Amino acid sequence: MTWAEPSSTATALLLLGRGADPNTEKGVECPGDLPAPSDPDLVERAARAKAALGDRVFVLGHHYQRDEVIQFADVTGDSFKLAREAAARPAAEYIVFCGVHFMAESADILTSDRQRVVLPDLAAGCSMADMAALVQVEKAWDRFTELGIAGEVVPVTYMNSSADIKGFVGRNDGVVCTSSNAETALRWSFEQGTKVFFLPDQHLGRNTAVLKLGLELSDCVLYDPHKPNGGLTDEQLRAAKMILWRGHCSVHGRFTLDSVDDVRERVPGVNVLVHPECRHEVVTAADHVGSTEYIIKTIEAAPAGTAWAVGTELNLVRRLALAHPDKQIMFLDRNVCYCSTMNRIDLPHLVWALEELVAGRVPNEIVVDADTAHYARVALDRMLALP
Ligand code: SF4
Repeated sequence: MTWAEPSSTATALLLLGRGADPNTEKGVECPGDLPAPSDPDLVERAARAKAALGDRVFVLGHHYQRDEVIQFADVTGDSFKLAREAAARPAAEYIVFCGVHFMAESADILTSDRQRVVLPDLAAGCSMADMAALVQVEKAWDRFTELGIAGEVVPVTYMNSSADIKGFVGRNDGVVCTSSNAETALRWSFEQGTKVFFLPDQHLGRNTAVLKLGLELSDCVLYDPHKPNGGLTDEQLRAAKMILWRGHCSVHGRFTLDSVDDVRERVPGVNVLVHPECRHEVVTAADHVGSTEYIIKTIEAAPAGTAWAVGTELNLVRRLALAHPDKQIMFLDRNVCYCSTMNRIDLPHLVWALEELVAGRVPNEIVVDADTAHYARVALDRMLALP
């Protein structure tokens, strides 16, 4: 199993902050008329509205978005790359973010006060980010304080977390990480303290600690916010080096060791390529591990005729298969699975958002509060200062 990353992603400028709570926004109806999915003019309407807005609008598209949406993106990328792209477009009056809520928060902080960030569907949250609420995390921290260990615990949060959580980490001398630089962030953290409190993705935390830093699985404990005292004894917390939050990605968490064994049996010689948000046993059994950008680059560089089973979101795997007909590219699991929240952004919502902007109304604006943004930026600046 190899786990490597392009180096450029760790050095980009990034700022974050907090918008409205996605938990309170699920099921929010779009004001005005949402076009019917069956409307045969959707593509033409989107093109017309985008053309009418011209340089006033910049559309960002995450790799996991539907093709019908991606075709209108001015740039595509992972959350880290898109945040940089938003920061690099100070002239655009409107940033339409085709992704999920925590990404739009990032864009709102990155852009100037004059710029407005729009999320075409406010129900496009992230189930992983939603698994760590600030009140739960503060309760865990209070427990560490009572036990007398808070001073030696460094909080680290994955980029895929709400700005609330990033702000908490910034206030408590911690750092943000991405799937590309998690190893560096953990090494830095273990120079600052003896324990790491990793939020919200247990799998990225465990995989990095064990496979990159050489810790034992027994050095890691799982803090479950739904159990009294996190489901951990005082002794377990005192002995742990990695305190992992019980969060996971609902898409990457679906892949199992059976998925890997099954595809190896069906496709002799297949290369298994997975994201580090997958379970530990899946990552260990894979041939290659890395971020979304790493997955794309690895497939691009692969020789013709090779076979690849890819363990990441289905929209991206399908697009890779279409773009590389000379290679055999398949979804790692027999059962297909999209990210349901990413998929909330569809063509009718994009058309609606663009036409509202043409009409002079700003729909579904994501606004970040200054205090949270400040501390989230502290945690992000620490990440940017990592070697
Ligand atoms: S793929 Fe996973 S981490 Fe990414 S937005 Fe969907 S639920 Fe969140």
